[in-house]
Amino acid sequence: MSRENDLPFKVIAEIFSSIENVTSRTQLTVAMVKLLKQTPPDVIDKVVYLIQGKLGPDWKDIPELGVGEKLLIQAISMAYRVSESQVEKLYKSLGDLGSVAERLSLQLHKNKKKVTGLLAFMGGETEALTVNKVFNTLLRVAMAQGEGSRDLKLRLVSSLLTDASPLEAKYIVRFIEGRLRLGIGDATVLDALAIAYGGSVHARTLIERAYNLRADLGYISKIVAQKGVDALKNIKPEVGVPVRPMLAERLNDPVEILRKVGGKALVEYKYDGERGQIHKKNDKVVIFSRRLENITHMFPDVVKMAKENIKAKEAIVEGEIVAINPDTYELRPFQELMRRKRKHDIQRAIKEVPVAVFLFDVIFYDGEDLTNKPLPERRKILEEIIEPTETWTLATSIVTDDPDELNKFFLKAIEDGAEGVMIKAIHEKSIYQAGARGWLWIKFKRDYKSEMIDTVDLVAVGGFYGRGKRGGKIGTLLMAAYDPKTDTFKTVCKVGSGFTDEDLDKMEELFKPYIISHKHPRVDSKIEADVWFEPVKVAEIIGAELTLSPLHTCCYNAVRSGTGISIRFPRFIRWRDDKRAEDATTEDELLEMYKRQLKKIEEEATQV
Ligand code: ATP
Repeated sequence: MSRENDLPFKVIAEIFSSIENVTSRTQLTVAMVKLLKQTPPDVIDKVVYLIQGKLGPDWKDIPELGVGEKLLIQAISMAYRVSESQVEKLYKSLGDLGSVAERLSLQLHKNKKKVTGLLAFMGGETEALTVNKVFNTLLRVAMAQGEGSRDLKLRLVSSLLTDASPLEAKYIVRFIEGRLRLGIGDATVLDALAIAYGGSVHARTLIERAYNLRADLGYISKIVAQKGVDALKNIKPEVGVPVRPMLAERLNDPVEILRKVGGKALVEYKYDGERGQIHKKNDKVVIFSRRLENITHMFPDVVKMAKENIKAKEAIVEGEIVAINPDTYELRPFQELMRRKRKHDIQRAIKEVPVAVFLFDVIFYDGEDLTNKPLPERRKILEEIIEPTETWTLATSIVTDDPDELNKFFLKAIEDGAEGVMIKAIHEKSIYQAGARGWLWIKFKRDYKSEMIDTVDLVAVGGFYGRGKRGGKIGTLLMAAYDPKTDTFKTVCKVGSGFTDEDLDKMEELFKPYIISHKHPRVDSKIEADVWFEPVKVAEIIGAELTLSPLHTCCYNAVRSGTGISIRFPRFIRWRDDKRAEDATTEDELLEMYKRQLKKIEEEATQV
């Protein structure tokens, strides 16, 4: 590539340096405009990624750089011919490896200057770094995997630093450390692009829409720089590139909700799982998360469903991936799905935590961008292209303009294990607003802000060691209710908040007499604690609400198969030294409380 199509890295380093202490968004935008205007279109994508501290959009699955602090210190020491301990010493005093590299590079340059004549004579002057050189080298660092990669990474980074000026070295090191922290978000880049290439911020709407349809800021910048803002008018979603998801506002009053969406609405179950944006092209399927990460590898079963049951060559559909009971197809709580995501053995995870997909939208279908079509039209297409199965179906829904009917449907949704309902506008302007949170979709969930009806008294049966400041000390307790029928203690929750510093300081001392080497025989727990206690100490606990959880054994299978009752956001209130462990809240009491809570939600909902 010729030099006209590249940008000296020096330009970037100087601009980064000029905004180091700037917090005003306007000033940051001005600096970005200055940078983008100087950038040749061919490398503008790379410049945009560098500004964001990345080597590409997150969903592209570019490997991490894999250069830890130790390796970086080694590279700095190699590049500037000082010992690693000298680097570490400087690091301690300056607190930032970027500044260390800058300082050492400056020293080396000064020394070199003394012998400049000689170096020049020997051809020792290095060529100035460019964006391509820096970016491509960093990409090679990231791509270096497997045997010998550590050495290769070391050599690449150290030679990059050798070629860099002191200021350049500072920002290269910070980039590698992931500590660029320029405070420039997507919005600032979009503004800057609009000003630099569209003449004003008005061009921003067009640029933003394009970015929402194709979540790759580098790619969008390149089109703008090469072909002008108008070229974005024709942009469509593309299979394989995530579309930024449409989001919902929140309301709890059915009358107001229906008014907001224009009277009549499509009301769907709001499933409690993970959003999946499923892209299909011929035989290839990719799934993106709500945060646009590529999650395809976690859901080979969903990939299979999509391959077999989307009747289109090309399509982008959206749905919620939910854990289910494979025998009854009942919905299971969100935590269950998380259990699957933590597993490394995917084939086993598929068996242990089977899922279903509830589809609710289609964004793109056989070459056509559907985002500007009203929801009823999109929904119709979705119905046409989806071959439903037990685990691959449309979200359960009704169309209504009646608040009472909405309420009834809401209660049914909760009974069936959904989180609430989604109310969606179906008028002519009910388009798919990619990347926006608006009033075309409204979520109606149970209100978690309300406290639990009563506090409960639970027994501490195990503990977990804290991290960070509280490292090595017990900071969280595993709490259990009492079951007199079997004379056992069954776990309900882990509590780590509500303790004062004094409580935490005394914790070790308090539990010392009760620490045992195994789980106590009267304790029924699926969770492995770091340390086990005799069930003696009783504490009063409050929380946001009682909830279902597959992790806890209290009331296991009593409400729903495969789940127990737990407490959402539990907080410690005080020790109840006046209570023996057997005086703690019982399993049956908790079940009663859970039923009362359900009734209360129903009553509140029917009051409207
Ligand atoms: P948000 O996504 O709105 O920022 P959040 O991530 O906390 O907030 P919620 O507020 O719970 O999520 O609600 C939005 C999410 O609900 C969607 O992103 C989607 O994953 C999920 N969802 C479940 N069922 C539906 C449905 N029928 N239609 C749309 N979204 C649904």
